[in-house]
Amino acid sequence: MAVGRFAPSPTGPLHIGSLVAAVGSYAMARRAGGLWLLRMEDLDSPRVVPGMADDILRTLEALGFAWDGEIIRQSDRIEAYQSALEQLLASGDVYPCGCSRAEIARAATAPHDGDGEMAYPNLCRDGLPPGKEARSYRVKVPAEPITFHDLVLGEKRYDLARVCGDFVVKRADGLFAYQLAVVVDDAAQGVNQVVRGADLLSSTPRQILLHRLLGHDAPAYAHLPLVTGPGGAKLSKRDHAVSLSAGRDLAADGGAMLLAVLRFLGQQPPQTLAGASGREILAWAAECFDSGRVPSRSAPLPESAHG
Ligand code: GLU
Repeated sequence: MAVGRFAPSPTGPLHIGSLVAAVGSYAMARRAGGLWLLRMEDLDSPRVVPGMADDILRTLEALGFAWDGEIIRQSDRIEAYQSALEQLLASGDVYPCGCSRAEIARAATAPHDGDGEMAYPNLCRDGLPPGKEARSYRVKVPAEPITFHDLVLGEKRYDLARVCGDFVVKRADGLFAYQLAVVVDDAAQGVNQVVRGADLLSSTPRQILLHRLLGHDAPAYAHLPLVTGPGGAKLSKRDHAVSLSAGRDLAADGGAMLLAVLRFLGQQPPQTLAGASGREILAWAAECFDSGRVPSRSAPLPESAHG
Protein backbone atom coordinates (compact mmCIF):
# COMPACT_ATOMS: atom_id res chain seq x y z
CA MET A 1 0.00 0.00 0.00
CA ALA A 2 1.23 3.51 -0.78
CA VAL A 3 2.18 5.50 2.31
CA GLY A 4 2.90 9.18 1.74
CA ARG A 5 3.51 11.95 4.21
CA PHE A 6 3.71 15.68 4.74
CA ALA A 7 6.46 16.81 7.08
CA PRO A 8 6.34 20.54 7.80
CA SER A 9 8.82 22.31 10.06
CA PRO A 10 6.96 24.52 12.56
CA THR A 11 9.31 27.43 12.04
CA GLY A 12 6.52 29.67 10.71
CA PRO A 13 2.97 29.44 9.37
CA LEU A 14 2.23 27.17 6.42
CA HIS A 15 3.37 29.02 3.32
CA ILE A 16 2.51 28.60 -0.30
CA GLY A 17 5.57 26.40 -1.02
CA SER A 18 4.71 24.00 1.77
CA LEU A 19 1.08 23.98 0.63
CA VAL A 20 2.28 22.73 -2.77
CA ALA A 21 4.08 19.87 -0.99
CA ALA A 22 0.98 19.15 1.12
CA VAL A 23 -1.31 19.02 -1.93
CA GLY A 24 1.13 16.98 -4.05
CA SER A 25 1.91 14.44 -1.34
CA TYR A 26 -1.76 14.14 -0.38
CA ALA A 27 -3.00 13.72 -3.93
CA MET A 28 -0.35 11.17 -4.93
CA ALA A 29 -0.89 9.05 -1.80
CA ARG A 30 -4.68 9.11 -2.06
CA ARG A 31 -4.70 8.57 -5.81
CA ALA A 32 -2.74 5.38 -5.18
CA GLY A 33 -5.35 4.38 -2.58
CA GLY A 34 -2.81 4.91 0.17
CA LEU A 35 -2.32 6.60 3.52
CA TRP A 36 -1.21 10.17 4.09
CA LEU A 37 0.67 10.78 7.33
CA LEU A 38 1.66 13.97 9.05
CA ARG A 39 4.92 14.57 10.87
CA MET A 40 6.05 17.69 12.69
CA GLU A 41 9.73 18.28 12.07
CA ASP A 42 10.42 20.23 15.24
CA LEU A 43 13.91 18.86 15.81
CA ASP A 44 15.82 22.04 15.09
CA SER A 45 14.64 23.56 18.36
CA PRO A 46 16.38 26.93 17.97
CA ARG A 47 14.32 27.54 14.81
CA VAL A 48 10.97 26.25 16.07
CA VAL A 49 8.44 29.01 16.77
CA PRO A 50 6.04 28.21 19.63
CA GLY A 51 2.44 27.82 18.49
CA MET A 52 3.30 27.18 14.83
CA ALA A 53 2.73 23.42 14.91
CA ASP A 54 -0.87 24.03 15.99
CA ASP A 55 -1.21 26.89 13.53
CA ILE A 56 -0.16 24.61 10.65
CA LEU A 57 -2.56 21.84 11.76
CA ARG A 58 -5.50 24.23 12.04
CA THR A 59 -4.69 25.64 8.61
CA LEU A 60 -4.57 22.16 7.06
CA GLU A 61 -7.88 21.29 8.70
CA ALA A 62 -9.51 24.51 7.53
CA LEU A 63 -8.36 23.73 3.98
CA GLY A 64 -10.11 20.34 4.19
CA PHE A 65 -7.13 17.97 4.60
CA ALA A 66 -7.62 14.77 6.59
CA TRP A 67 -4.62 12.69 7.62
CA ASP A 68 -4.23 9.13 8.83
CA GLY A 69 -3.05 8.00 12.24
CA GLU A 70 -1.24 9.85 14.97
CA ILE A 71 0.93 12.86 14.23
CA ILE A 72 4.59 12.13 14.94
CA ARG A 73 6.73 14.88 16.46
CA GLN A 74 10.45 14.60 15.95
CA SER A 75 11.12 16.08 19.38
CA ASP A 76 9.63 12.85 20.84
CA ARG A 77 11.90 10.60 18.78
CA ILE A 78 15.40 11.30 20.09
CA GLU A 79 15.88 7.71 21.30
CA ALA A 80 15.14 6.32 17.85
CA TYR A 81 17.72 8.66 16.28
CA GLN A 82 20.26 7.74 18.96
CA SER A 83 19.84 4.03 18.28
CA ALA A 84 20.24 4.57 14.52
CA LEU A 85 23.42 6.52 15.23
CA GLU A 86 24.71 3.68 17.40
CA GLN A 87 23.91 1.14 14.67
CA LEU A 88 25.89 3.19 12.14
CA LEU A 89 28.80 3.68 14.55
CA ALA A 90 28.88 -0.08 15.21
CA SER A 91 28.90 -0.87 11.48
CA GLY A 92 31.73 1.63 10.95
CA ASP A 93 29.64 3.77 8.58
CA VAL A 94 29.63 6.77 10.94
CA TYR A 95 32.59 8.28 12.77
CA PRO A 96 33.21 11.08 15.26
CA CYS A 97 34.64 14.28 13.81
CA GLY A 98 36.59 16.86 15.76
CA CYS A 99 36.83 19.55 13.09
CA SER A 100 35.57 23.08 13.62
CA ARG A 101 33.99 25.08 10.80
CA ALA A 102 37.13 27.18 10.50
CA GLU A 103 39.35 24.11 10.17
CA ILE A 104 37.11 22.68 7.47
CA ALA A 105 37.08 25.97 5.56
CA ARG A 106 40.89 26.06 5.61
CA ALA A 107 41.25 22.44 4.45
CA ALA A 108 38.43 22.19 1.90
CA THR A 109 39.51 22.03 -1.70
CA ALA A 110 36.44 20.49 -3.29
CA PRO A 111 33.61 22.61 -4.71
CA HIS A 112 30.63 23.80 -2.73
CA ASP A 113 27.26 22.26 -3.41
CA GLY A 114 24.16 24.28 -4.27
CA ASP A 115 23.28 24.80 -0.60
CA GLY A 116 26.47 26.75 -0.07
CA GLU A 117 27.84 23.82 1.87
CA MET A 118 31.56 23.13 1.83
CA ALA A 119 32.59 19.63 0.74
CA TYR A 120 34.15 18.13 3.86
CA PRO A 121 37.60 16.74 3.06
CA ASN A 122 37.06 13.69 5.32
CA LEU A 123 39.84 14.72 7.72
CA CYS A 124 38.66 12.55 10.65
CA ARG A 125 37.53 9.54 8.60
CA ASP A 126 40.45 7.38 9.69
CA GLY A 127 40.22 8.33 13.35
CA LEU A 128 40.19 11.46 15.49
CA PRO A 129 43.59 13.15 15.37
CA PRO A 130 45.40 13.11 18.76
CA GLY A 131 44.14 15.77 21.14
CA LYS A 132 40.81 16.19 19.30
CA GLU A 133 37.42 15.49 20.79
CA ALA A 134 34.29 14.44 18.96
CA ARG A 135 32.20 17.48 18.00
CA SER A 136 29.91 16.00 15.39
CA TYR A 137 29.30 12.62 13.75
CA ARG A 138 29.67 12.04 10.03
CA VAL A 139 28.63 9.30 7.65
CA LYS A 140 31.14 7.94 5.13
CA VAL A 141 29.94 8.62 1.62
CA PRO A 142 30.79 6.06 -1.06
CA ALA A 143 33.17 6.72 -3.94
CA GLU A 144 30.45 5.71 -6.44
CA PRO A 145 27.65 8.16 -7.27
CA ILE A 146 24.11 7.59 -5.95
CA THR A 147 21.52 7.30 -8.70
CA PHE A 148 17.75 7.32 -8.40
CA HIS A 149 14.64 7.80 -10.48
CA ASP A 150 12.61 10.82 -9.46
CA LEU A 151 8.92 10.45 -10.39
CA VAL A 152 8.84 14.05 -11.68
CA LEU A 153 12.43 14.86 -12.62
CA GLY A 154 13.56 11.50 -14.03
CA GLU A 155 17.02 9.99 -13.60
CA LYS A 156 19.26 11.73 -11.08
CA ARG A 157 22.87 11.11 -10.21
CA TYR A 158 24.84 12.63 -7.35
CA ASP A 159 28.50 12.22 -6.56
CA LEU A 160 28.30 12.84 -2.82
CA ALA A 161 32.06 12.52 -2.39
CA ARG A 162 32.46 15.55 -4.62
CA VAL A 163 29.36 17.49 -3.62
CA CYS A 164 29.49 17.32 0.16
CA GLY A 165 31.97 14.69 1.34
CA ASP A 166 31.20 12.80 4.54
CA PHE A 167 28.16 14.62 5.91
CA VAL A 168 26.93 15.32 9.43
CA VAL A 169 24.30 13.08 11.04
CA LYS A 170 24.69 14.51 14.56
CA ARG A 171 25.61 18.16 14.86
CA ALA A 172 28.18 19.85 17.06
CA ASP A 173 25.32 21.45 19.04
CA GLY A 174 24.12 17.93 19.96
CA LEU A 175 21.05 17.94 17.69
CA PHE A 176 20.47 15.11 15.25
CA ALA A 177 20.70 16.25 11.66
CA TYR A 178 17.58 16.55 9.53
CA GLN A 179 18.97 13.89 7.13
CA LEU A 180 19.15 11.17 9.77
CA ALA A 181 15.87 12.05 11.49
CA VAL A 182 13.88 12.01 8.24
CA VAL A 183 15.28 8.62 7.25
CA VAL A 184 14.63 7.04 10.66
CA ASP A 185 11.08 8.46 10.71
CA ASP A 186 10.17 7.60 7.12
CA ALA A 187 11.29 4.01 7.76
CA ALA A 188 9.51 3.77 11.13
CA GLN A 189 6.27 5.12 9.64
CA GLY A 190 6.46 2.78 6.63
CA VAL A 191 6.60 5.74 4.22
CA ASN A 192 7.28 4.47 0.70
CA GLN A 193 6.49 7.64 -1.26
CA VAL A 194 8.19 10.96 -0.48
CA VAL A 195 6.70 13.94 -2.35
CA ARG A 196 8.20 17.34 -1.51
CA GLY A 197 9.65 20.51 -2.97
CA ALA A 198 12.64 20.46 -5.30
CA ASP A 199 14.58 22.51 -2.73
CA LEU A 200 15.14 19.16 -0.99
CA LEU A 201 16.38 17.32 -4.08
CA SER A 202 20.03 17.42 -3.01
CA SER A 203 19.03 15.83 0.32
CA THR A 204 17.61 12.79 -1.44
CA PRO A 205 20.89 11.00 -2.32
CA ARG A 206 22.03 11.50 1.29
CA GLN A 207 18.80 10.01 2.56
CA ILE A 208 18.97 7.09 0.12
CA LEU A 209 22.48 6.36 1.38
CA LEU A 210 21.31 6.39 5.01
CA HIS A 211 18.37 4.09 4.19
CA ARG A 212 20.78 1.63 2.59
CA LEU A 213 23.24 1.73 5.46
CA LEU A 214 20.44 1.20 7.99
CA GLY A 215 19.12 -1.75 5.96
CA HIS A 216 15.86 -0.16 4.73
CA ASP A 217 14.34 -0.04 1.27
CA ALA A 218 14.42 3.63 0.28
CA PRO A 219 11.03 5.16 -0.61
CA ALA A 220 10.14 6.42 -4.10
CA TYR A 221 10.75 10.17 -4.50
CA ALA A 222 8.95 12.93 -6.37
CA HIS A 223 10.22 16.52 -6.23
CA LEU A 224 7.72 19.23 -7.05
CA PRO A 225 8.46 22.56 -8.76
CA LEU A 226 9.13 25.52 -6.47
CA VAL A 227 6.88 28.54 -6.35
CA THR A 228 8.85 31.60 -7.33
CA GLY A 229 8.08 35.27 -6.99
CA PRO A 230 7.62 37.49 -10.05
CA GLY A 231 10.62 37.25 -12.38
CA GLY A 232 11.73 33.92 -10.93
CA ALA A 233 12.93 35.30 -7.57
CA LYS A 234 13.02 32.90 -4.65
CA LEU A 235 10.11 33.40 -2.27
CA SER A 236 10.99 33.99 1.31
CA LYS A 237 9.16 31.93 3.88
CA ARG A 238 7.29 34.94 5.13
CA ASP A 239 5.93 35.68 1.68
CA HIS A 240 2.59 34.13 0.99
CA ALA A 241 1.95 32.72 4.42
CA VAL A 242 -1.15 30.56 4.21
CA SER A 243 -2.41 30.86 7.70
CA LEU A 244 -5.49 31.31 9.78
CA SER A 245 -3.40 33.47 12.04
CA ALA A 246 -2.89 35.80 9.07
CA GLY A 247 -6.58 36.67 9.50
CA ARG A 248 -7.68 34.81 6.42
CA ASP A 249 -10.97 33.01 6.10
CA LEU A 250 -9.73 29.75 4.65
CA ALA A 251 -13.19 28.22 4.73
CA ALA A 252 -14.11 30.88 2.16
CA ASP A 253 -11.02 31.31 -0.03
CA GLY A 254 -9.10 28.08 0.67
CA GLY A 255 -10.78 26.41 -2.30
CA ALA A 256 -9.44 29.00 -4.75
CA MET A 257 -6.00 28.56 -3.30
CA LEU A 258 -6.14 24.77 -3.69
CA LEU A 259 -7.34 25.09 -7.28
CA ALA A 260 -4.43 27.42 -8.06
CA VAL A 261 -1.97 24.95 -6.50
CA LEU A 262 -3.44 22.08 -8.53
CA ARG A 263 -3.09 24.11 -11.74
CA PHE A 264 0.46 24.99 -10.73
CA LEU A 265 1.05 21.22 -10.50
CA GLY A 266 -0.12 20.78 -14.08
CA GLN A 267 -3.60 19.48 -13.23
CA GLN A 268 -6.82 20.50 -14.94
CA PRO A 269 -9.55 20.69 -12.32
CA PRO A 270 -12.96 21.19 -13.97
CA GLN A 271 -14.70 24.59 -13.96
CA THR A 272 -17.48 23.07 -11.89
CA LEU A 273 -15.12 23.12 -8.90
CA ALA A 274 -14.96 26.93 -8.87
CA GLY A 275 -16.49 27.93 -5.55
CA ALA A 276 -16.27 24.39 -4.15
CA SER A 277 -14.97 23.70 -0.64
CA GLY A 278 -11.41 22.58 0.03
CA ARG A 279 -12.69 19.15 0.96
CA GLU A 280 -14.44 18.75 -2.41
CA ILE A 281 -11.42 19.94 -4.33
CA LEU A 282 -9.12 17.57 -2.46
CA ALA A 283 -11.57 14.74 -3.13
CA TRP A 284 -11.27 15.52 -6.85
CA ALA A 285 -7.47 15.52 -6.55
CA ALA A 286 -7.54 12.18 -4.74
CA GLU A 287 -9.36 10.68 -7.70
CA CYS A 288 -7.86 12.49 -10.68
CA PHE A 289 -4.34 13.71 -9.83
CA ASP A 290 -1.95 12.75 -12.62
CA SER A 291 1.69 12.86 -11.49
CA GLY A 292 2.74 12.57 -15.15
CA ARG A 293 1.46 16.11 -15.68
CA VAL A 294 3.53 17.75 -12.93
CA PRO A 295 5.98 20.18 -14.55
CA SER A 296 9.64 20.08 -13.59
CA ARG A 297 10.27 23.83 -13.79
CA SER A 298 9.77 26.32 -10.99
CA ALA A 299 7.27 29.08 -11.74
CA PRO A 300 5.20 31.80 -10.13
CA LEU A 301 1.83 30.72 -8.80
CA PRO A 302 -1.27 31.81 -10.74
CA GLU A 303 -2.54 35.16 -9.40
CA SER A 304 -5.71 33.84 -7.79
CA ALA A 305 -3.78 32.05 -5.06
CA HIS A 306 -2.08 35.03 -3.59
CA GLY A 307 -5.14 35.97 -1.56
N1 GLU B 1 10.61 19.54 7.19
C1 GLU B 1 11.08 19.80 5.87
C2 GLU B 1 10.63 21.17 5.43
O1 GLU B 1 9.63 21.68 5.92
C3 GLU B 1 10.58 18.80 4.86
C4 GLU B 1 11.18 17.49 5.02
C5 GLU B 1 10.80 16.46 3.97
O2 GLU B 1 9.74 16.56 3.34
O3 GLU B 1 11.57 15.52 3.84
O4 GLU B 1 11.27 21.76 4.59
